Amino acid sequence: LPLPAPRRIKALSQDVVNKIAAGEIIVAPVHALKELIENAVDAGSTSLEVMIKEGGLKLLQITDNGHGIDKEDLHILCERFTTSKLKAFEDLSSIGTYGFRGEALASISHIAHLSVTTRTKESSCAWRALYADGKLASPKPGQTAEPKPIAGRPGTQITVEDLFYNVPSRRRAFRSASEEYAKILDQVGRYAVHCSGVSFSCRKHGDAAGSGISVAATANTVDRIRQIHGSAVANELVKLKAENERWGFKCEGWVSNANYNAKRTTLLLFINHRSVEASAIKKALEQTYTNFLPKGGHPFLYLSLEIEPQRVDVNVHPTKREVHFLNEDEIVAIVCDEIRDTLSKVDTSRSFMTQS
Ligand code: ADP
Ligand code: MG
Repeated sequence: LPLPAPRRIKALSQDVVNKIAAGEIIVAPVHALKELIENAVDAGSTSLEVMIKEGGLKLLQITDNGHGIDKEDLHILCERFTTSKLKAFEDLSSIGTYGFRGEALASISHIAHLSVTTRTKESSCAWRALYADGKLASPKPGQTAEPKPIAGRPGTQITVEDLFYNVPSRRRAFRSASEEYAKILDQVGRYAVHCSGVSFSCRKHGDAAGSGISVAATANTVDRIRQIHGSAVANELVKLKAENERWGFKCEGWVSNANYNAKRTTLLLFINHRSVEASAIKKALEQTYTNFLPKGGHPFLYLSLEIEPQRVDVNVHPTKREVHFLNEDEIVAIVCDEIRDTLSKVDTSRSFMTQS
């Protein structure tokens, strides 16, 4: 058979490239929401309200009371790599905020209808802007795309509608809105536990206020865990603290004692105040608990690790969900030792109390 003629190589259109890149960062509604929560927290908000329709596919809306966005910055807000959090590559090593690559809003604008209403303390009114494909967009053909002045309180409201409307294959992949909503509640719940001093609410459009998640700004960490995960676990928590200068880390948290066990492990893990997943760390923690729990029993852990930023690499994955840091094994070993110590102390005091 004759060899087929080579096909000519062509560049993908910029529009396709943008959608592919956006789809790598935002795989499901919860990923868009996580970015929006982090932005709101970065802005110094003490109140975050989340409203959801159809698992976030129809509507994701987050309202904060943070510092807002300057009207002059609105025209570049959704361009890729525009950020107020990073100026030079060197800043990567000292960055203290949650996101910093300036990609989240840009990505969302390529795969959803995005609108922003924002007001700074200095501004006498709020400004509302719509975005499409990284740029300001006009609400109707023939109308201006310039931000419009409107009445509004200081802070920012971001509205994301019809996520993946222009990526039909991705849109069709979501079978259940309630599954996506469950992931959203899980993620909001994580930040609600972690962010002391911040009130959180999350509910489905049409549901009564107070359904879903509702946590007051004044609630302490154990109260937050109680409201989101229930009293059964909140009543059996011990405080955890570990620190090590050599490996440049601090760890604080609340973990369940030997009286509590569940079918599955709940691990709320924050590294430098960002919610992350880490299967290796989870395994090591579960292993530590096997000596304290009946067979098949699993713990609850909320852990906040602060690691010197220059030791953390957050750029291994476009979503930044996976984080790597130096001396991971040593750090995890110290945390596990501390858990072992803490749990055995609790155990002895209990048996002592029952004896006396
Ligand atoms: P990044 O967070 O990596 O900087 P984003 O695309 O998430 O990139 O946001 C771009 C910029 O928009 C941020 O740097 C910030 O200045 C501004 N911004 C986004 N959301 C908010 C918000 N809720 N409040 C105040 N500023 C915001
Ligand atoms: Mg961000």
